[in-house]
Amino acid sequence: MDYITVIGLEVHVELNTASKVFCGCKAEFSSEPNIHCCPRCTGMPGALPALNRKAVEYTVAAGLALHCNISRFSTFERKNYFYPDLPKAYQISQLEYPLCVGGYLDIKTEAGDKRINLNRIHLEEDAGKLVHAASGGTYVDYNRGSIPLIEIVTEPDLRSADEALTFLESLKSVIKYTGISDCRMEQGTLRCDVNVSLCRPGEPYGTRTEMKNLASFKAAHRAVMYEAKRQREILSDGGQITQETRRWDDVKGKSFTMRTKEDAQDYRYFPDPDILPIKLSGEYIESIRQGLPMLPGVRARLYIDKYKLPKYDAEVLTADKEVADFFDACVRLYDNPKIISNWVMTDIMRKLKENKEAEDIFIPLSPDAFTQMLKLLAAEEINQNAAKTIFEAYWKGDGRSPAQLIEELGLAQISDSSALEDILKGIVAANPNAVKDYRAGNTKAIAYFVGQAMKATKGAASPAVVNGLIKKLLE
Ligand SMILES: [Zn+2]
Repeated sequence: MDYITVIGLEVHVELNTASKVFCGCKAEFSSEPNIHCCPRCTGMPGALPALNRKAVEYTVAAGLALHCNISRFSTFERKNYFYPDLPKAYQISQLEYPLCVGGYLDIKTEAGDKRINLNRIHLEEDAGKLVHAASGGTYVDYNRGSIPLIEIVTEPDLRSADEALTFLESLKSVIKYTGISDCRMEQGTLRCDVNVSLCRPGEPYGTRTEMKNLASFKAAHRAVMYEAKRQREILSDGGQITQETRRWDDVKGKSFTMRTKEDAQDYRYFPDPDILPIKLSGEYIESIRQGLPMLPGVRARLYIDKYKLPKYDAEVLTADKEVADFFDACVRLYDNPKIISNWVMTDIMRKLKENKEAEDIFIPLSPDAFTQMLKLLAAEEINQNAAKTIFEAYWKGDGRSPAQLIEELGLAQISDSSALEDILKGIVAANPNAVKDYRAGNTKAIAYFVGQAMKATKGAASPAVVNGLIKKLLE
């Protein structure tokens, strides 16, 4: 009997608060090292932490968006370990009473929707960053130290690398909707570790390994595939899995032992005596719930009910907030959701996919100019070809109005029969063989004449008018 792959994730999300979690230093990325530091975030003796309210609010918002139970009572602990990126030699984190408990996220799988349960979400501080210089030596930058970070821990409910990838994408979408983080893996504002173990159906979970250093979702996917295969080979040979932390090397496509797994008690967690427990009122939690934006699932249902869009379209349109916001802005200007949806689902999605290396979705179209173009198309003032030309121009950042573009690029649709008739007469005269073909019963020759007419008018002829005229001329 084959093994089942059991996967759990720990996702770290840096919150985009203005200041750090226990001091007033700016919580922003800077290319100049060590400019956002103070005695508090570098752990100087006697400096006392003061909790950032916004960080608590954002953690609760994440918890509510992910259906967690929000703790009315919550505490902070010190997680002790020594490393140069942590000048205090302990990280302030939450162990006993995290802010959010339980929760879930439903993901789409080939077998239908699947609920992935969460264990918890807690608030902690980020560590500094080590910079390994090319000339040798290592430097440390404490700008990132003490920026608020939430850790989202799943239950081991994921069963394949594909499910893990889908979960990460869906989680990123939900978090970005809440606006508490920009979730950029490149800048490290979203990071994840994966736990993998194997077991046979019906048996308890096997020994797990934890994998770190996953720089992208793609790397996480590859790492899970690799690790499951590695463990399967060891077990099939009668070997045992060592509980350990492994480091993924994406260039080599392999993972390597980093350290054998420490248990929580090795960190000697103890309550932080400088930070009072947090007590949250029901009203406070409710006010954060009221402030949450409409999340992807709810928004998709609205699109189905209100705009009568197919479920698939509604889900694609709402998967990313940027796309859904663009769609909404267009519908407000041009009340034809189906036409707008068709363009977004095809041309815009294709453009976004071409640029999928970019972590942020950006639609460089103004809803105003884009919907003006759609209206001209609907009024048959331009044809589909011209619309695509205008779309391409806008995507490249052309600032001209549709009217200007039509004028300057000669895109106006030629529907005037007399103007087209002269052009068509010329084409018929120049192609006696095609005329013979047509008269011999090859009706496909029509397509040839239409093609020639489009070419002669640089795509501006109305295909419907050309079709009618050419038949008349040939018969
Ligand atoms: Zn500070």
